[in-house]
Amino acid sequence: NEEIQLAKRPEGMPTEENFRFVETEVPELEEGQVLVKSIYISVDPYMRGRMSDAKSYVAPYEVDAPISGGVVGQVTESQSDKFQKGDYVLGNLPWARYSAVNAETLQKVDPELGPVSTALGVLGMPGLTAYFGLTDIGEPKSGETVVVSGAAGAVGSTVVQIAKILGARVVGIAGSPKKLDYVKNTLGADEVINYKEEDVAKALEKACPDGVDVYFDNVGGPVSDAVYPLLNAHARIPLCGSISSYNKKEDQGPRIHGYLVKSKAKMQGFIVADYSERFTEGKKQLSEWFKQDKLTFEENVVDGFENVPDAFLGLFKGENLGKQLVKVAEA
Ligand code: NDP
Repeated sequence: NEEIQLAKRPEGMPTEENFRFVETEVPELEEGQVLVKSIYISVDPYMRGRMSDAKSYVAPYEVDAPISGGVVGQVTESQSDKFQKGDYVLGNLPWARYSAVNAETLQKVDPELGPVSTALGVLGMPGLTAYFGLTDIGEPKSGETVVVSGAAGAVGSTVVQIAKILGARVVGIAGSPKKLDYVKNTLGADEVINYKEEDVAKALEKACPDGVDVYFDNVGGPVSDAVYPLLNAHARIPLCGSISSYNKKEDQGPRIHGYLVKSKAKMQGFIVADYSERFTEGKKQLSEWFKQDKLTFEENVVDGFENVPDAFLGLFKGENLGKQLVKVAEA
């Protein structure tokens, strides 16, 4: 067996030195546990926060202990009535090839619903983030303008589509021509902006002639600075993430005070786990849209356990279109 530990806490952008591959024994099962073979390991931006020891909504990873996160795997041995050998499961598991896990902490993944990997993406945590952030905080009405940053990523790509389903006009912001093409022509955004190549403030002004009613913010920083002057009265801003700051010593902003006062906008941070009591509802709605072909998804799948750290670092370089996953074993 093999696991990946946090070797030391990063300062700024993490490097390979922050990760350590360690050979371990395949764990013995205790009563109530199952042995899970990891198939898809999810890498997510929030993990950068857990690598630091700053105060947050979730405890930091421990140094010299395995990093953990969303994993879809298959039960290879069971000491629990809840799962049988061959079942697909989702859990918050260590970055390891095999894990002995208390069955109560796992959820069954139904392969009939879609590829099992979607339990880590459009039908999982990022999809639920998009759904609750947009519908509960953004509350877009038909005909309103919704701006989405990080629009080609796991969360953003789902936000764009849900906003379209709800009848909004959608402007997506992302960082490459390929991503813009995807956001516009596959996801159905009305306008797209490449924040790396365009003057975002000018491009937004052109793309949002009626101002901005909802800004779903995945990135923060200069991109968000460009959105605030366009906020309409009573605009809503679900603050989902600020990936532009995660590797910086100082928060990158945006500077918002005057704009919020003038627009009387409502800005609300949220963490998807706050909605855990409504996850069944969220999953049901996402699956329905998925079955009706109203919701599509893209995955950037890298092969090989040895590539987990690189795939994680790629999130901060914009390497992924859609959900970034690492496939570490065959199903
Ligand atoms: P993504 O799939 O969107 O991957 C990250 C993307 O962020 C990259 O592909 C890149 O795209 C973009 N990016 C990287 N650096 C920067 C930068 N400096 N400025 C602007 N964009 C950048 O990740 P997720 O969909 O999983 O997460 C998106 C956001 O949502 C993150 O901020 C994350 O922390 C947050 N989140 C919050 C949750 C919550 O509960 N509140 C739950 C899940 C995610 P590009 O090429 O366009 O630059």
